[in-house]
Amino acid sequence: MKETYHVVGSGEVEEILRSYVCGRWFEAQAGFVDVRSAIDGRVVTRVSSDGVDFQAMLDYARTVGGATLRRMTFHERADLVKRLALHLSEHKQRLYELSFDTGATQKDCFVDIDGGIMTLFSFASKGRRELPNAHVALDGALEPLSKGGTFFARHVMTPLHGVAIHINAYNFPCWGMLEKLAPAIIAGVPIVAKPATPSAYVAHAVFEEIVRSGILPEGSAQFVAGGLGDTLERLTGQDVVSFTGSRATSTRLQGVPAIRENAVRFVAERDSLNAAILAPDAGPGAPEFELFVKEIVREITTKAGQRCTCIRRAIVPRAYLDDVQRALTERLKNVIVGSPRCDGPTMGALVSLAQRDDVRARIAELATEAEIVYGDPAHVECVGADDRSGAFMSPIVLRCERPLGATKVHDVEAFGPVTILMPYDDVAAAIAIANRGDGSLVASVFGYDAAAVDEIVLGIAPFHGRVLVVDRDCAKEQTGHGSPLAPLVHGGPGRAGGGEEMGGVRGVFHYMQRTAVQGSPQRVASVSGQWNPGATEYAATRHPFEVAFEALRVGETFYTEAREVTLADIEHFAQFTGDGFYAHMDEAAAKRSPFFDGRVAHGYLLLSFAAGLFVKPELGPVLANSGLEALRFLKPVYPGDAICVRLAVKEKTPRKPEYGEVRWAVTIFNQNRDVVAQYDLLTMNATEDHVPSLAGEIAVGAT
Ligand code: NAP
Repeated sequence: MKETYHVVGSGEVEEILRSYVCGRWFEAQAGFVDVRSAIDGRVVTRVSSDGVDFQAMLDYARTVGGATLRRMTFHERADLVKRLALHLSEHKQRLYELSFDTGATQKDCFVDIDGGIMTLFSFASKGRRELPNAHVALDGALEPLSKGGTFFARHVMTPLHGVAIHINAYNFPCWGMLEKLAPAIIAGVPIVAKPATPSAYVAHAVFEEIVRSGILPEGSAQFVAGGLGDTLERLTGQDVVSFTGSRATSTRLQGVPAIRENAVRFVAERDSLNAAILAPDAGPGAPEFELFVKEIVREITTKAGQRCTCIRRAIVPRAYLDDVQRALTERLKNVIVGSPRCDGPTMGALVSLAQRDDVRARIAELATEAEIVYGDPAHVECVGADDRSGAFMSPIVLRCERPLGATKVHDVEAFGPVTILMPYDDVAAAIAIANRGDGSLVASVFGYDAAAVDEIVLGIAPFHGRVLVVDRDCAKEQTGHGSPLAPLVHGGPGRAGGGEEMGGVRGVFHYMQRTAVQGSPQRVASVSGQWNPGATEYAATRHPFEVAFEALRVGETFYTEAREVTLADIEHFAQFTGDGFYAHMDEAAAKRSPFFDGRVAHGYLLLSFAAGLFVKPELGPVLANSGLEALRFLKPVYPGDAICVRLAVKEKTPRKPEYGEVRWAVTIFNQNRDVVAQYDLLTMNATEDHVPSLAGEIAVGAT
């Protein structure tokens, strides 16, 4: 044990971790489990949920928390999440210090603590950008169900009326809790967080800050330190379980009768034997070879390999297997194992001695099919600590010569700094080996040969939630095998849990029910909060471009004058823009097209004329045109036709105090009232107090 390293501060942990239920901290009196430091084995804290009234906890969440959250809009709830992220950002230091005792190094803390806070920010911003400032979210387009246009359907998403039980793994106590909390709160569903016992004190400290901040409404977040008692047996079809942990625990919990009988939604993120594949072109000397080796080292040493995404199987062209082994060995020799409280070590400890025993036992199983070629599972030199009392372990590399004939290497998860090298003979074999994991969170492919890389990606995609392709072009900016970004899928098919998409807005939708609402155009519009054709039109009393954001009413419509489109207009537009496509310029050629009876107006000309018809040129509430969506040209416009435009306020979304986004349904008609084109126009419109005026001052009260 060397003593030459600087030792940083230790976080103070409460002697007993309390649960936070029914708006109060609850301290158990019995049934405690000791939680020990990963570094030196001392008892850090004790945990028990003995005496918690689980039914009262569920009722409190459903009746108090859920009801309050559901009264808020998506944006209001996203704002809570953002404020929480800001609050936690100010209290990171204590969390780092506590985390050291879980074996995490400072670098690991960035993944868990900073990563968790970033996830809150990311969900909050996606919630504001991609969800409406309303109580209902829409999934998919309006579905016309009748010829006469009087019967429509729309899929609406509404928050479940139950509670989300979040059961977390020990490896990322902060990130794991926050990545589940954010989508549930944004959806409007209260949560109960249950951290894994070995690192519960870090989750507890995060939760203490959440409570102290006072940001989340009463009943919207509760915390159980210790077991969940009979909570799962009390769940209904309105509740959700989001589980992260081992396959064995997940299978057991999914078998709880109430979960099966009440069809309780159960998302599982569970163990996964992720692969990294070196493509056939990426031999020694290729940039992708170096990147591959570097990534394996990063994956197995970060969090001492206790990552759900860790590269467990490194699949390598047979000809390069020795080179990869040599390069890995060289890099791993530089890994310094030791106490995270010292400033030298680059790899910390496993979470507990029990976990290390488990990893050693798993390695022994793997060693029946593979040879250990680097590291000694029984002993490691460590800095600032002793590997008899602390759960330290060397990185371990195994080599399995015949992976297609083996079973355990694709099935046994050693949840520590462990990876297995596997050779392949051709691309088909590489794909087959990767897919033997029976469904994984992530795989990465390192190579530059387009044909081989594409074949591998498409061959393994059905078995993976995420596939990362690393090459020299994205090397500097790629985020790594193990970094699921909040907008991306986190989860995988098969043994990895079942392929639920937990990233981004899909993650929010997981806590909501998708319902097809059918009815008249007006009913569908009022339930969905979005105007649609056939719904009531409120005739604008002023040009809508003169109206500030707040005063615009969804369904307010404005019809323009008509304008004839002449042949001279078409020729002028063709000359001016350079778009002389035959359908606009050559009568005989246009007639040959199955779509036209002769020369037609440019679609872009129609858009420009439409703007000319509805735009109000003076400075006013409309600040900018931010785009068009869902543009369709439905009927040709011939010289001599006359077009007019209907502009309808389809949806309003507040963006900043100064302005909001207006989605306008724009419909262009011809003289026969046939729709020739339609699209959504997006504009940014000033709020009442921020409408610009020519005098350079804000014109207050421009409604
Ligand atoms: P674990 O032993 O399966 O425990 C997971 C969680 O389940 C813990 O919070 C545990 O609480 C809880 N639990 C156990 N029995 C329960 C019961 N009867 N009722 C309610 N909750 C119960 O897994 P772990 O050791 O914490 O984590 C390591 C595993 O997680 C690895 O296999 C890893 O691959 C997997 N993992 C997967 C992902 C992913 O996204 N796919 C992410 C991280 C980790 P206690 O600790 O109090 O027993």
